[in-house]
Amino acid sequence: MVRTQEQEFRTLPQDTGMPSGGVIVCIIFGVLLFIGLVAGLIIYRRRQAHHHRARPCQKHSGYNRDEIWLKPYVDLQPYEDPSRGVLEFTKELDPSLVNIENVIGEGEFGEVYRGTLCFPGKERIVVAIKTLKSSYSDSTWWNFLREATIMGQFNHQNIVRLEGVVTKRSPMMIITEYMDNGALDTFLRENMDKFSAVQLVTMLQGIASGMTYLSDRNYVHRDLAARNILVSHCLLCKVSDFGLSRILENDVEGTYETKGGKIPIRWTAPEAIAHRIFTSASDVWSFGIVMWEVLSYGDKPYGDMTNQEVMKSIEDGYRLPPPVDCPSVLYELMKVCWSYDRTRRPRFREIHAQLDHFISSPHLLRTVADFDPRVTLRLPSCSGSDGIPYRSIPEWLESIRMKRYILNFRTAGLNTMESVLELSAEDLKQMGVTLPGHQKRILCSIQGFKE
Ligand code: AMP
Repeated sequence: MVRTQEQEFRTLPQDTGMPSGGVIVCIIFGVLLFIGLVAGLIIYRRRQAHHHRARPCQKHSGYNRDEIWLKPYVDLQPYEDPSRGVLEFTKELDPSLVNIENVIGEGEFGEVYRGTLCFPGKERIVVAIKTLKSSYSDSTWWNFLREATIMGQFNHQNIVRLEGVVTKRSPMMIITEYMDNGALDTFLRENMDKFSAVQLVTMLQGIASGMTYLSDRNYVHRDLAARNILVSHCLLCKVSDFGLSRILENDVEGTYETKGGKIPIRWTAPEAIAHRIFTSASDVWSFGIVMWEVLSYGDKPYGDMTNQEVMKSIEDGYRLPPPVDCPSVLYELMKVCWSYDRTRRPRFREIHAQLDHFISSPHLLRTVADFDPRVTLRLPSCSGSDGIPYRSIPEWLESIRMKRYILNFRTAGLNTMESVLELSAEDLKQMGVTLPGHQKRILCSIQGFKE
């Protein structure tokens, strides 16, 4: 008994200052608790990431959790051997896991296919497969790898997700998630007038969310346009096309043509065209154009003006008119995105917050911006900021994609734009001109103008 008491006495820390058994137990418990908490946090974050991937269509109102650890993206440039960069940021897939089905598009590197990817023991998933054509040059190969490397570093529900690459066998492939509704511009043209203002704003909000994520990582897209946004089966919009350096042989529309190089003139901020100053603020300019494309259901910005005319008009202060039925708050937002001074443009985070606000207060979308057909029917002058009318009816019809009615107008003896402005809805009916949604609204507005 005495010995036991002595032992008990020795372990008590009162005089020695040494930790007692109880304290040691507390410390061990504390350490275990800490490890448990850290492990719990890691598992939670992984689950969250998985959750985001597994349920891409969930409404997203905030920013990705990964933003707590913001890290600028890494370009391939510093790598002497680009394959090393690819190794670091992408997953090399065994080609036998990939099943190519049908062609869905023509990309800048080669054909794009729909297909499936099946990891052993996992469910088969539908994917898009970009292939690199066999006759590729060094620079094409480099750009192909670069697109994969960049995409592989992003993880956000509004950025197209990279599943993996095949670079060790021919044909080389970039495999991404499949987006059922394809490119946004075509999708909107095929679904003219089918969406509410809130639905259109939700699409834009998704794009703004993806762009916030990219700009937070110092990634400047340089080619933000509706053609480079992909749409999922539930209308979720995702930013894609991280190729940057465009290969222009097939660019029949001259979208990227300029004296100095490869720039999508109609989508690009003036300082980027003139001085090659590409920043997130120049991406914001392009976002304004994407807003215009979305609200006009895929119309071509600046119609059939030439690239030269577009550049000159922007310098002269001309801006795109509001699309038909465009909520005025959205047109105001477009116009600030097109501030000549890039420091006056809003940031993507602010744009995202504004769009969020419009979605939660849809009554703000009710007031429609003044649509003035006199502006829409005019080309900006090349000598000043005053508009000049379209030179002919065919020119105007072509610009609003109604070329098929040239003969109807000619047969009715109409030769001048002035005569078009005199037409009534009844006249159009008698001429056999029946127009779908958006274009019909343009002509209806002309009736309003006449009154
Ligand atoms: P791109 O090379 O990215 O411009 O792709 C060319 C075309 O292929 C696009 O305009 C789309 O129609 C289609 N496409 C590309 N990626 C995908 C995808 N992930 N899901 C569905 N369609 C796609």
